[in-house]
Amino acid sequence: TAKQRGKANWVRYAAGMEKPAQAAAQLGGDLRRALDAGEFSLVYQPIVSLVDGRTIGVEALVRWNHPERGMVSPADFIPAAERTGLIVPLGRWVLRETCRQAAAWIAEFGPDVLWKAAPNVSVRQLHDPDFVADVRAALADSGLPADRLVLELTESAVLRGHQVLKVLHELHDMGVRLALDDFGTGESSLSLLRAFPAAVVKLDKSFVDNIELDEEGSAAANARQAVARAVVQLADALGLDTVAEGIENQEQADRLRKLGYTVGQGYFLGRPVDAAAFTARLVAQRKLTAA
Ligand code: C2E
Ligand code: MG
Ligand code: MG
Ligand code: MG
Repeated sequence: TAKQRGKANWVRYAAGMEKPAQAAAQLGGDLRRALDAGEFSLVYQPIVSLVDGRTIGVEALVRWNHPERGMVSPADFIPAAERTGLIVPLGRWVLRETCRQAAAWIAEFGPDVLWKAAPNVSVRQLHDPDFVADVRAALADSGLPADRLVLELTESAVLRGHQVLKVLHELHDMGVRLALDDFGTGESSLSLLRAFPAAVVKLDKSFVDNIELDEEGSAAANARQAVARAVVQLADALGLDTVAEGIENQEQADRLRKLGYTVGQGYFLGRPVDAAAFTARLVAQRKLTAA
């Protein structure tokens, strides 16, 4: 019968499959279903001037509101989405949604209020032959000017492959800005800066953690300060903007400011929030500025 045949097929299929691959395939299927079902959303974290406290940009971070598991962190599903290739349609959605939302905020609050909108992009997307066209379409459809879009790429993502570099230069030529995310954690931060048309360097949170605990004997904190200082000096010399990530208290903000950082991001400056809460933040800022 059909049922028996189906079962036999299933057995053969399952037996020939490695367990992790099976799990990944299942998660991949679940991700596909979730994308079609509209279970993904974005939260927005402010990127803030350390000089006057104003919001000058926003990073878009994806969330998965799973019907049974609740909110799933990107750390738990981005790797699977990369493995299964679903990151391509998911990333396309993130890109389009970020552009749409940023254009709406600029329309509501004026072009001087923000700024830059920064979605994260996986290397897998850079290898997709349609990526540049997708970016161009996201900009055209939303009306967001290209120079307001900052694509965040991790160092590991920016392989030196000719193809990837060609894509990055095409984006650069369109006026789109590129940020090196988690800077300092990769194996080739410095050599990368030569070939990569970056506009922004984001100092990784691991160099910000405990950076305020200096003097009395913390060699580790002193080393973090040395790295943080070297990165901002290098960025200045190369004409790149910087963002210090993962700032959790006033002392860290003060310390980074003294080291030369003028822009930061972190729970102390603002947690990632949904679009409505981010709008409220911009309304409050507008009132302050008007007063
Ligand atoms: P990331 O791009 O470096 O994003 C910063 C992460 O640090 C976010 O976690 C953010 O919520 C968190 N964070 C910000 N400030 C603080 C702080 O002061 N303290 C602490 N402890 N954490 C802070 P999230 O949202 O869980 O994202 C984790 C990573 O997942 C991101 O790191 C990024 O690599 C990836 N990711 C997120 N959204 C996307 C996406 O749409 N596409 C792709 N490809 N990757 C994404
Ligand atoms: Mg990022
Ligand atoms: Mg980051
Ligand atoms: Mg990070």
